[in-house]
Amino acid sequence: MPEAPILPIDDPLLKTVSMPVTVVDDEARALAKRMFAVMDRANGAGLAAVQIGVPKRLVVMDVRDAEDKHHRLALINPEIIEASEDTETQNEGCLSMPDYDIPVSRSTRVRARYLDLTGQEHVVSATGGLAICLQHEIDHTNGILFTDRVSRLRRDRARSYFAKVRRRASS
Ligand code: ZN
Repeated sequence: MPEAPILPIDDPLLKTVSMPVTVVDDEARALAKRMFAVMDRANGAGLAAVQIGVPKRLVVMDVRDAEDKHHRLALINPEIIEASEDTETQNEGCLSMPDYDIPVSRSTRVRARYLDLTGQEHVVSATGGLAICLQHEIDHTNGILFTDRVSRLRRDRARSYFAKVRRRASS
């Protein structure tokens, strides 16, 4: 399996809106398989296809909900169809900016619609880490980063931290 590098948070591709997956075929399933491998290797909770340079609306996740139930899912063309007005602020990370968590305010509960890897439609009602992950990953498919959801001060701090890490890595 070829190594798929994860794009860093300042890569311009991460700001683009991903294209819908028009057919759920072997190509889409192979992409999901590759994404699971990349996510697992990086010990991540979620990954969007655009993060490995494929701007398609496909995300994978491996998280627990508020009842500690485990969810390992590949979601094609996922969309939030309902979001609670009440919000919760939790520390969030992103595989495109490793080892840097930021508190982000998200809806406490969401409902999302998606296709599975056989093309069948599902609606999932999510709480806890699953709700956070769905919002974070679906944001990625829309070109929105978690740093876009916090104050300018926190965003600037995250950017300068990340620039420092990259300088260190390249020297
Ligand atoms: Zn992310």
